[in-house]
Amino acid sequence: MSDFLRSLRGDTPRLCSLSFIATSMRVQRLHKVFDSDVIAIEDLTIEIRSGEFLAVLGPSGCGKSTLLRIIAGLDQPTSGSVEKDEGKIAYVFQDAHLLPWRTVLRNVALPLELMGASRAERLDAAADALRQVGLGDAMSRYPAQLSGGMKMRVSLARALVTQPKLLLLDEPFAALDEITRQKLDEQLRELWLRHRMTVVFVTHSTGEATFLADRAVVLSRRPARIVEDLGIELPANREATLRSDPKFAAITRRIYSALERGGA
Ligand code: ADP
Ligand code: MG
Repeated sequence: MSDFLRSLRGDTPRLCSLSFIATSMRVQRLHKVFDSDVIAIEDLTIEIRSGEFLAVLGPSGCGKSTLLRIIAGLDQPTSGSVEKDEGKIAYVFQDAHLLPWRTVLRNVALPLELMGASRAERLDAAADALRQVGLGDAMSRYPAQLSGGMKMRVSLARALVTQPKLLLLDEPFAALDEITRQKLDEQLRELWLRHRMTVVFVTHSTGEATFLADRAVVLSRRPARIVEDLGIELPANREATLRSDPKFAAITRRIYSALERGGA
């Protein structure tokens, strides 16, 4: 057990046992300075609850991707720490990064292949993940035969196939047309309701953040600090019609104004 979890248990037993169960990750006083003396992140602290769907927004270049990379362990902080629960992490980028010579099914099976799963096991799990994203009939196609939205769904299926505890997404739908993007948002919300993994979703879209997340953290211009940390109190099941609800508009406006205050 980490010192952080031990300290949670030790100090105030009643409260702490709750935190012990509920806290999935704590980003603690994080600093990241690049060699070029660029201060990307300065003294950032965020606590993320287990099973939470968190959206992170902020101006271009403020350090969002850097934050995700550090959370994933792909980059090291200059100082500060990230404490997180044990468990698999999956990462989804804006580019689907599919291998063109592999079928859709074998692209999705790849993470399990790298983990040493048997052929039957990985193909079964990949087929199941593809059905979950609505691509049950496209398994034998190659990436070149897919639309942008389908490629992104394959990328989502490949992230789900390992049953991650933590799913990190870095502007995954930003390059798609609006209708495809909204449909993928609806699908991702459904997938999250089914699996309840912890999600950190970076986006530039205030409407996308409101539709998808249960909480939005808005960061300022570099070096990133928190301008607003906002609970999104909307129903758990989110239908397309929610987007025309006045509550939806009010939350979206609040995120927008936080972005403005942060210098976006
Ligand atoms: P965002 O994802 O919010 O657009 P990034 O996290 O990609 O921002 O980058 C934050 C800042 O750090 C930017 O100014 C960027 O140029 C800089 N940066 C990111 N990665 C590196 C790197 N490997 N080396 C030097 N500077 C970097
Ligand atoms: Mg980025």
